[in-house]
Amino acid sequence: MPTSKRFNIKSAEILCVGTEILIGDIVNTNAAYISAQLALLGIPHYYQAAVGDNPKRLKDAISSALQRSDLLIMSGGLGPTYDDLTKETAAECMGRKLYLDERSLQRIKDIFAFRNRTMTQNNEKQAYIPEGSVIFDNNAGTAPGCAIEDEERGKIIIMLPGPPFEMKRMFAESVVPYLQQFTDVRFVSKNINIFGMGESAVESVLKELMMGAKNPTVAPYCGDGEVRLRVTASGTSDADCEALCDEMIAKIRETEVGNFIYGLDTTLAEAVVKAYREKGKTLAVAESCTGGLIAKRITDVSGSSEMFGYGAVTYANEAKNKLLGVRWETLEAYGAVSEQTAMEMAAGVRALSGADVGIATTGIAGPGGGTDTKPVGLVYMGVASEKGVRALKFNFNGDRDRVRILASGNALSLALNEIKV
Ligand code: ATP
Ligand code: MG
Repeated sequence: MPTSKRFNIKSAEILCVGTEILIGDIVNTNAAYISAQLALLGIPHYYQAAVGDNPKRLKDAISSALQRSDLLIMSGGLGPTYDDLTKETAAECMGRKLYLDERSLQRIKDIFAFRNRTMTQNNEKQAYIPEGSVIFDNNAGTAPGCAIEDEERGKIIIMLPGPPFEMKRMFAESVVPYLQQFTDVRFVSKNINIFGMGESAVESVLKELMMGAKNPTVAPYCGDGEVRLRVTASGTSDADCEALCDEMIAKIRETEVGNFIYGLDTTLAEAVVKAYREKGKTLAVAESCTGGLIAKRITDVSGSSEMFGYGAVTYANEAKNKLLGVRWETLEAYGAVSEQTAMEMAAGVRALSGADVGIATTGIAGPGGGTDTKPVGLVYMGVASEKGVRALKFNFNGDRDRVRILASGNALSLALNEIKV
């Protein structure tokens, strides 16, 4: 089939540079990652190799790869030291000279300045790029990557840094879009948002499904008490990819994890705002240990004014009593951090605002203030709605910030579940 694309990549191969790989000091995980990415891109790949930091053997390896394949992807040896030879050698094989790329140099200088470290002369070496290359910025380290193109011979050499997290980020951010221009493959990703189930629990339920998934792939990410699963499909059209993603998402919904999915490509606060708006419900919050964080997360979402009008930060007992009507007897008998106080706070803010649902938090964020019976991380939450008033007890692990983030997340999740039928 005739193609208007500048390169027609019929086959690719991978060459990883570093004596450490040859002597078994490190496992060649870069080759495994790049292989999987090539498969997703639909680029056939027949050879992979590793070579030590030796200019002659490196040159031989590059030359023979270019005789067999249209695309050579290399990793390693882009660093500042004398044994980092990849760019020099690849440039020589492609008949190119190196030049100092001012933009890359400035980026490296900025990184050193940001880290408050002195930049030694040899670091300049990383900013030397083969003439006529496409440059890939390194957003996780210093050495940029690049692609040397030879349109006459129809050959491309891509060079990536050795450290896996730099290489992967560069691959995802720059190499995938670069290679997509030469293929007809499309990518679509959808994120499944999960709350209330930890990463290891999600993984243990989905382990086989995730390991067996080739297209789409399923990758977990976690943070702030939440888990996100990124489902990525490749195909020849966006519609095909969407269908593949949707099929996988439906499969995941059928598992136990399905009970904890609160949305797709969203955030907990966005899901709360959307659900309340759709149902014409309103929410009010009374916060002690979260200090306004729940209100902040809700009001970060545009359109929240339709479902959120009242948020009270009642830190002192007096505030809990005066603003929310929490009884002094309750505060004295059970303490501010108690089920009873949480329930009266939630009922109080609901009555005050006239909202459909009132949510309250009271707890010990730490690091000080904990006791044997009420340790740091203990948080009570109150929920008040037409269904009644109840309290829930949580014990969070972590520092002050984390306790507050986890508490606000759980409060949002309670708010969401309270209006589910
Ligand atoms: P640097 O700037 O750190 O020198 P570089 O691009 O020159 O980076 P190398 O010096 O070849 O890369 O490798 C740096 C480190 O990255 C290695 O010590 C190793 O930990 C890791 N690494 C390199 N190649 C691979 C690989 N193929 N698979 C897994 N890890 C690798
Ligand atoms: Mg190096």
